Amino acid sequence: MLASVLSVSLLVSLLAYAYHVLAQFQQQQQQQQQSLSSIDSKSSKNVLILTAHPDDECMFFGPTITALRDSKTRVHVLCLSTETKRIVTNRLYIYLLGNADGLGATRKKELTRSCQVLGIPPVDVKALDHGQVNLFSFFSQDLQDGMKNTWSPTLIAGIVKDYVTKHKIDTIITFDDYGVSGHPNHIAAYKGAQHFVNESCSNNKKVRLYRLSSILLPRKYIGIGDLVFMAVEQRLFPDRGRDAVLFVSSPSSYLVTHKAMRRHVSQLVWFRWLYVTFSRYMFVNQLVEVTPPV
Ligand SMILES: [Zn+2]
Repeated sequence: MLASVLSVSLLVSLLAYAYHVLAQFQQQQQQQQQSLSSIDSKSSKNVLILTAHPDDECMFFGPTITALRDSKTRVHVLCLSTETKRIVTNRLYIYLLGNADGLGATRKKELTRSCQVLGIPPVDVKALDHGQVNLFSFFSQDLQDGMKNTWSPTLIAGIVKDYVTKHKIDTIITFDDYGVSGHPNHIAAYKGAQHFVNESCSNNKKVRLYRLSSILLPRKYIGIGDLVFMAVEQRLFPDRGRDAVLFVSSPSSYLVTHKAMRRHVSQLVWFRWLYVTFSRYMFVNQLVEVTPPV
């Protein structure tokens, strides 16, 4: 009993200390980056978080969304897929999309509820069920969730363009070219956004694009402790990450993200509980602006 109490006390003390160190670190970063931190309410009025799957907004972009909401920036979430459920009858594949029977409808509702917890109203949340059944190919795998599904950057760029135009988006935030975990759908979201920004730039309509920096596996599951690595990295390589924008969740923001993740009821299997406890992306987001070719 005494050992348990001591262990919990030690853990709480360590977490409190880590937050103290990290708050100081963040303050230093903010001072250095004041002129670079362009994602704020002054310069960005409408920010789009472009995700591949419902729950990406919590699992990867929580620190960014909560920080932007705190600065009164309007945040939108555009999710490129929900989920496809495949059943087989008499060798005929039937795909259930976002209808009453498929998991897609459930995941859409969960996304809406999660975003409401994060302070984003349903009107600013959109999830796509892109793909359709046809008699010749039975199914067109346009934007269906899956490690083996290839998503077209041109198609995504067109979808992003429509959304950006309709909602007057000035800043897009999405994954980078490794997509945190190497997931091809995450990478496709980045490639599509990049494609759109390159095109819009050539039309003299500037929309800024930020990518979420992927990190090496050993640092991925050490939670807030990754800031210690970042602090060391900054000492050793002062120029590295100089242009990056850093969002670190306060304990209350972390709890908001955690609560939002709990709205994805269909996804709460045991390893997700481990993820929300130990993943660095629940606490820290480092964003880097993508500059289009001149
Ligand atoms: Zn995902």
